[in-house]
Amino acid sequence: MLWLLSVVYDGRNPFFTNKRYSIKKKYYNDETQQIEIYDDHTGHKPYLLAKHKPDFNYYEIQKIEKITKIDRLYDTEREVYKIITKTPLAIPRLTERMKNNVIWENKIKYTTCYICDNKLVPCMPYETTRSSDYIRVKHDENILKEIMSGVGNESNDFFDWLPHYIDVYLTPVPSVRRCAIDIEVEEEAPKKVPNPQYAKQPVISIVIVGSDGKSYCFVNKERKEPPSHNDVNYLNEWEMIHEALQICDNYPITLTFNGDGFDIKYLRNRLRRLSKKINIPVYIDNDGFAHFRNSVHIDLQLFLQQAAIQKYAFRGAYKNTSLEECCQSLFNMGKIKHDGLVRDLPTDKLLEYNYMDAWLTLYLTQFNDEILLKLAFFAARVNKCDLMTVTRKSAMAWLSSRFAWIHRHDNILIPRREDIQKLKGTASKKGKTGAKFSGAKVLEPVPGVFWNAVLVDFTSMYASIIKEYNISYETIKCGHPECKRRLPRLGYQICSKYNGIISTHLSLDLTLRKNYFKPKAKQTGDPSLKAIEQFIKVEVNMSWGIVGNDKFDYYCEPAAEGITDTGQFNLLSLREEAMNPVYVDSVPLSKLQRLRCDTLYGHTDSCMLNNPHDLMLEHLKNFCLQKLGIELDVEARYLVVFLTSRKANYIGIEITKNGNKAVIKGLQGKKSNTPPLFQKTFKTVLRLLEEVKDEKSLEETKNKIINVVRRTRKKIITKKVTPQEVSFNISLSRELSTYHKTIPQHVRAALLLKEMGEEIHSGDIISYVKCKDGSVQPVELARPEDIDVKKYNQQLKSIFAPLFEPLNINYDSVIEGKKTIIDF
Ligand SMILES: [Zn+2]
Repeated sequence: MLWLLSVVYDGRNPFFTNKRYSIKKKYYNDETQQIEIYDDHTGHKPYLLAKHKPDFNYYEIQKIEKITKIDRLYDTEREVYKIITKTPLAIPRLTERMKNNVIWENKIKYTTCYICDNKLVPCMPYETTRSSDYIRVKHDENILKEIMSGVGNESNDFFDWLPHYIDVYLTPVPSVRRCAIDIEVEEEAPKKVPNPQYAKQPVISIVIVGSDGKSYCFVNKERKEPPSHNDVNYLNEWEMIHEALQICDNYPITLTFNGDGFDIKYLRNRLRRLSKKINIPVYIDNDGFAHFRNSVHIDLQLFLQQAAIQKYAFRGAYKNTSLEECCQSLFNMGKIKHDGLVRDLPTDKLLEYNYMDAWLTLYLTQFNDEILLKLAFFAARVNKCDLMTVTRKSAMAWLSSRFAWIHRHDNILIPRREDIQKLKGTASKKGKTGAKFSGAKVLEPVPGVFWNAVLVDFTSMYASIIKEYNISYETIKCGHPECKRRLPRLGYQICSKYNGIISTHLSLDLTLRKNYFKPKAKQTGDPSLKAIEQFIKVEVNMSWGIVGNDKFDYYCEPAAEGITDTGQFNLLSLREEAMNPVYVDSVPLSKLQRLRCDTLYGHTDSCMLNNPHDLMLEHLKNFCLQKLGIELDVEARYLVVFLTSRKANYIGIEITKNGNKAVIKGLQGKKSNTPPLFQKTFKTVLRLLEEVKDEKSLEETKNKIINVVRRTRKKIITKKVTPQEVSFNISLSRELSTYHKTIPQHVRAALLLKEMGEEIHSGDIISYVKCKDGSVQPVELARPEDIDVKKYNQQLKSIFAPLFEPLNINYDSVIEGKKTIIDF
């Protein structure tokens, strides 16, 4: 089978000179495990759509056709002129010359336009390169039956598209043969990162590690000390770079960590510097993407940086996207540590270090059953972006291309943003602090200690609202006299004649995940199903953020406002029904009214209930499903919660299958850069809290907690601590040389280390101690007597005072011994 990995336009591509301008498609042949490149055979050309025929001649125009499009925004059919040009570059020029005309679809990237018009689905398998129909892998009949039976009452559009999504998700992801490359460049001086634009410094070593078990090591012959292994290539610099790039180009996929920004760019520019005659299989396009002639280059750092991946897929497991931080957080391994400059390492050590980086880069696509590769494939298939694009562009670009494909597929005119705004207008209520429309609702927390609280939340709330109320740019305020349904609070009309394009496709994601992939993944433990389930969740959750973003191609303010406002309505309705039940179900109302319960706290889509009866919980679930059209889930049951007056700041003792577990929200002690002594104290306090059984034992626990915190405070005052215990540990997010104006404390400490000759890089963890007179010292240099007692006591207080507030302990008087008004 041939898997379509990438679609590139060769207009400016130096590999394909002396040929006519056109599209090249890169397929992965899974039998030969090689890339195969094919020209477009359809004669497709770029175009834009216009209301009027241009009244001028232009040599770039190849042809003009009159075509009919469906205009869903104005609910009409529309005849437009399709103005076909010879090259994509002509599109902006033509747009400029047609200022007085009405123009549609002129801003779509040409490769996207090509993928859409040919109905191609990137990362799906094809029989031949001339076909635009992907191979329909035969799915298990039972699975199909199960999916269908779970779907229920949906629209025709939904069922028309359902088979497509089943194919997209159930077609397996091939384990493509791939390699990772990493290079080491001789540092000019400490603190100075070589500039890949000029590539002045020599490359000293290169390592390539392949998924096929092969690896290739290169060392620059200028180094006096030869490598001790025979299989290391000890070559001239240009020979070594040239050979390494050729090896990568023979792999279907080449992986790098920051290859666009450094490695590949450096190799290319260095090679050009060394020899003008060599044919280099790499070029950098206008977007700064580094392309190989054959191989598809994925820069994993860029992919891991994407909010969709960092925030939603890996739930913020890594804080910054250095190789060290990503690998440590995702699979607990890291770079090889060394002292001094890389160039000064003995050759064998240098190779070991270099090898590890390349290996880690490869392993990022292998750990956890190749989850990262799978996420990239699913994202490419669902959003119709090729692999190069989907791993580099933001979720906004993903969705733009996804919906462009859907519009073109159904011959629907892609609306102009200004037309959406003109027709639908703006939000009717402004949000707080100048926001275009009001955001999420917060039910202010009630501070105190509460027993048997239950946290409930609406499942994928915003996406569920989009689905339930059929919200899309063309269906909100549709204007059809026959459409009578309205949004609950804003009263905006909702279309019942058509299903919205955005709502239909999000419903498909939501329904497939909820009714099939999520329960199935849980039941079977199958990692492939788990990957699909995880991906759909990413797509659904990020979609809401995009639909509400005014930069989105299909942004419609009343739609975005309608979604958040209905979210507020849902949360308030839930509270009202809990406190004062009026909805009738199988439990008599009189009984429910005796079971009424208070809400303790609410935020966006979740709500904490005070000691609700099981019947009440069941009742609320029914109420939400029947009256609000949304599922309510029990997120956690707490033996006890300690709420503070600040939002998203509480401690709960959650009842789990494996005993009680303390859950901390927003309080400082958990953060990883907090000094170990405070973390340890915090953990001890949590363990004490986990032992709480009832109100009586809570009082005893409170006394124990007070003693623990007092002991820590005493240790600080008497300076009986080691510098390690009180160190702050912060990872360096940029190279030291890039800090100029404001120098944060951890950077100051890093500079001191640098002065001592240590090599410091972005991603390194810097440990420092706060000392008297506002100075800082790296842990290595600090002495206990230097520590700033006042600062550390403040820190201790900032961690424990918020925790003591709901426990009703006065930090000032109990810990610091300050007298309160009552004492006088
Ligand atoms: Zn309507």
